[in-house]
Amino acid sequence: MKKNKLKQILILILMLIVITLAAVNKILPKVDAAECSACGDCVNYCPVKAIEMVGNKAVIDAEKCINCKICISACPQNAIK
Ligand code: SF4
Ligand code: SF4
Repeated sequence: MKKNKLKQILILILMLIVITLAAVNKILPKVDAAECSACGDCVNYCPVKAIEMVGNKAVIDAEKCINCKICISACPQNAIK
């Protein structure tokens, strides 16, 4: 009886960990428009063409973004976080 209760609690904890990790992985990079110098590097480096220049600022399309984070290291202004 006690063993079953412990098993249920462990499963619950594991589920919470999985849900938390899934939520964290959904956090996509964002462009700080104030920092963007419109160099276009992120547009060129994005492997799925999820970034375009809109009004001289880079904008990430959340639908296309695969969260690889390449744009974060590609940005010379550290404008993508
Ligand atoms: S995280 Fe990857 S896929 Fe998403 S915008 Fe940046 S480079 Fe493109
Ligand atoms: S790499 Fe950085 S500075 Fe250049 S366009 Fe993209 S966000 Fe703007």
